Amino acid sequence: MIELDHNATTRPAPEVVEAVRRALEETWHNPSSVHRGGQAARHGVELARKSVAELIGAKPREITFTSCGTESIDLAIRGVLGAAGPGRTLITTRVEHAAVREIARELEAQGLTRWAPLGEGGVVDVAGLGAMLDERVRLVSVQWANNETGAIQPVREIAALCRERGVVFHCDATQRVGKLPVSVLGEGGAEAWCDLMSFSAHKFHGPKGVGVLWARGGVRLRPVLLGTQELGRRGGTENVAGIIGAGVAAELAGAWLKEERSRRELGMVRDRFETLVLGRVRDAVVNRPRGGERLWNTSNIAFPGLEAEALLLLLSERGVNASAGAACSSGSLEPSPVLLAMGIPERLAHGSVRFSLSRESTPAEVEYAAEIVGECVEKLRESSGSLGV
Ligand code: PLP
Repeated sequence: MIELDHNATTRPAPEVVEAVRRALEETWHNPSSVHRGGQAARHGVELARKSVAELIGAKPREITFTSCGTESIDLAIRGVLGAAGPGRTLITTRVEHAAVREIARELEAQGLTRWAPLGEGGVVDVAGLGAMLDERVRLVSVQWANNETGAIQPVREIAALCRERGVVFHCDATQRVGKLPVSVLGEGGAEAWCDLMSFSAHKFHGPKGVGVLWARGGVRLRPVLLGTQELGRRGGTENVAGIIGAGVAAELAGAWLKEERSRRELGMVRDRFETLVLGRVRDAVVNRPRGGERLWNTSNIAFPGLEAEALLLLLSERGVNASAGAACSSGSLEPSPVLLAMGIPERLAHGSVRFSLSRESTPAEVEYAAEIVGECVEKLRESSGSLGV
């Protein structure tokens, strides 16, 4: 199978699998127990916290482990707004992952969400967002990199504006951590540039079931799951084996990120994939921010006249895994709301497929996949009699 669906998830690294297996066998006690077994589990969790903190230049005590990126985001948004008291407003964007978008829609029904304006390619209009900051706004939440197109948002500029106005800034860094360097610290190790950052271990070759929320010291958060664990920020016995695996994944990701060349080369492999696909399918269009930056691993391509789901099924039969829209919305025939919010016309959004690489991807498999994509598009068009648009 050729995996080109790595924004949905990544294969746990062998070192991670081994660490999780050993933890399940050897450090399976409850880390809150005072006996030796419990203390060994606690030690494993705390070492992992240190490794995860190092990956983003943070202090270990500012890291909270949760069950997934979605829960980290939930804690960040509900936690900050809950601590701020009633009537405080969230600003976010329509291109966020559903984990943010759905909370924002729930809050919108209470009049507590405002949507930031987007420029071309779904990139936030920073000045427009700045004009929306008033005394009712408590929190701004913007993703660092988009899970469908890889578009990178100007989060540092947005965070700086928020800081000036005393508004808390949360960055959903789930797609960036492990793919590009991330530091919560300002230039030269200066004070943190944002207030909260969420991400998820399974996006960088760690296990599923481990989310991370970093919160700058001093940020007030009302816990969502009440309990004594994680310094009272998140109740519930920790997923010890998963967290230990996440720690190993963070160390491996940190080491991989030191070599800029690896990701530059993989970016060239992604570009070659797009050139090959566009060469075979003349009317295909790459959905990307014009002139803007995007992740090295993501390619979102529209095939006019096709239904993405039909193409995904055929690709899967031919041994290529890809996805349409966010992974959680595959299976629905609705076009991706993110692509629509980016201004992609509905007829293109319907036929848009996301191909995403990981640090394991090879030029040979990606080039071969491009060939298969071309053949599958041709076959579907022949069978539907569609000439494309
Ligand atoms: N945010 C972004 C940008 C994502 O891509 C994802 C997952 O795809 C999430 C949040 C949610 O993470 P998780 O799957 O760990 O809940």
